[in-house]
Amino acid sequence: MTTWLEAPRDEDVAGPLARRFEEAWGTAPAGVWAAPGRVNVIGEHTDYNGGLCLPMALPHRTYAAVRARDDDRVRVRSAQEDEGWEGTLAEVGPGRPKGWAAYPLGVLWALSEKGFHIPGLDVLVDGRVPLGSGLSSSAALECSVAVAVRDLVDGVGALPLTELAQVCVTAENVVAGASTGGMDQATSLRAEPGHAMLLDCRDFGVEQVPWRVGEQGYELLVIDTRAPHALVDGQYAARRRACEDAAGVLGVETLREVDATALDDQLARLDDETVRRRVRHVVTEIERVRQFADALAAGDTDAAGALMLASHVSLRDDYEVSCAELDTAVEAAEQAGAVGARMTGGGFGGSAVALVREADAAGVADGVAEAFAARGFAAPQFLTATPSGPAARVV
Ligand code: ADP
Ligand code: MG
Repeated sequence: MTTWLEAPRDEDVAGPLARRFEEAWGTAPAGVWAAPGRVNVIGEHTDYNGGLCLPMALPHRTYAAVRARDDDRVRVRSAQEDEGWEGTLAEVGPGRPKGWAAYPLGVLWALSEKGFHIPGLDVLVDGRVPLGSGLSSSAALECSVAVAVRDLVDGVGALPLTELAQVCVTAENVVAGASTGGMDQATSLRAEPGHAMLLDCRDFGVEQVPWRVGEQGYELLVIDTRAPHALVDGQYAARRRACEDAAGVLGVETLREVDATALDDQLARLDDETVRRRVRHVVTEIERVRQFADALAAGDTDAAGALMLASHVSLRDDYEVSCAELDTAVEAAEQAGAVGARMTGGGFGGSAVALVREADAAGVADGVAEAFAARGFAAPQFLTATPSGPAARVV
C-alpha cells in the first residue's frame, strides 16, 4: 500500500479557503493566489555557489486568500498551523517574529524595506506542498503572498520577477533566519508549464528547457521520505562556509569560476581532504546540469538517468548531505527499474526524485515502500511531478 499525494484542483481549494476567510474575518478576500513548490531535478547545493540547477515547479501549491485593510493591522493564519499572528509591521524585523508567520510577514517587511508602503492585510493560507519535505513549501508560502501583494499594493507590480524573488529570499534569510540560495523562489515565480528551468544562479538568468516528460512515456516520481530535513542544525551553513572559504583560497569569487577541465590542479591547491571533496561535488555537479540539459534536448533519457545517479553518489560521498532514508529511496527505486534517481533539496531527509517509465511508476513506488518497511522507516509518500506553472492569481 503506497500513499500518493495528489495535487488538488484550484477550485477545490480556493473556494473553501475564501469561505473560511469570510467566516473568520467577516469579509470576503480580494482574491486567492497560489504559488508552487518545486522539485530540483539536478544541480544540488550549487545555487549559493553561483552555479547551475534545473528545478521545475510542482502542481502542488500553496494558496493564499488575501485582503488589503484600511488600517495598518496585519493578520496571518494558516490551515496547517494552530497559531496565527496579529500585529503591525513595526513588530517585524530580522529574526522576529519566531515561527511560521515569519515567512509571510518577512515578505511584507522586505517590501517595506525597499520603500513600498504596505497597508494592513489579512492573509489566510492553505499549503498543499508538504511542509518540510524539501519541496520548498517555504518558498511557495512566500511567493503566494508576494504575488498577492504585487496585485493589491500600488507600485509593487512594477518590480521585475527577479527582484520579487529576491524579496522572498530576504524574507527567508533575514526574518525567518533560514539560509536559502534563491533557487526555490526563482522557480516558484518563474517556472513554465511543460518546462524544466535551467537557472544560472550567477545572475539568475533562466533558460526554459522543454520537457514533455509524459509524452515521452516517462514520469518524475517524487519520494517524500518523511524524514524531516533538519538543515537548521548548522550543516547547510557549514557547507556554505566551506565553499566560500575554498573559493577564497582558489582566488575566485564563487566555485562557479573553477575550471572543471582543470579540476585536479585546483583541488591540489586545497589542503583539507574534506574541503577538496566539497569542491569536487560543486564543480562536477554544475557540469552534470549542463550535460543533463543536453541529454534532454537530445531526448536521451538513459543519459539523463545516469547523471541523476552520479549526482546522488556525489552528494552522498563528497558533499555528505544524504541520509539512510534517501539512500534507501534511491537504491530501491533503481532496483525497481527507475532510469535514474537522486536525493533532491538540501538533504539530511526530505525527498528523492526518480525518473521512471510511466508503466513502472507504481512498481517503483511499491519497491521503495517495501524497502522502507523492511528497514523500519516511516512510510514514504509519493507525488507525481508534472512540470507546472508559476505563482499566479487563481480567483
Ligand atoms: P520546505 O521548504 O522544504 O518545505 P522549510 O523548512 O524550508 O522546508 O520550510 C517549512 C516551514 O515553512 C514550515 O515549518 C513552516 O514554518 C513554513 N510553512 C510552509 N508552508 C506553510 C503553511 N502552509 N502554513 C504555515 N507554515 C508554513
Ligand atoms: Mg524551504
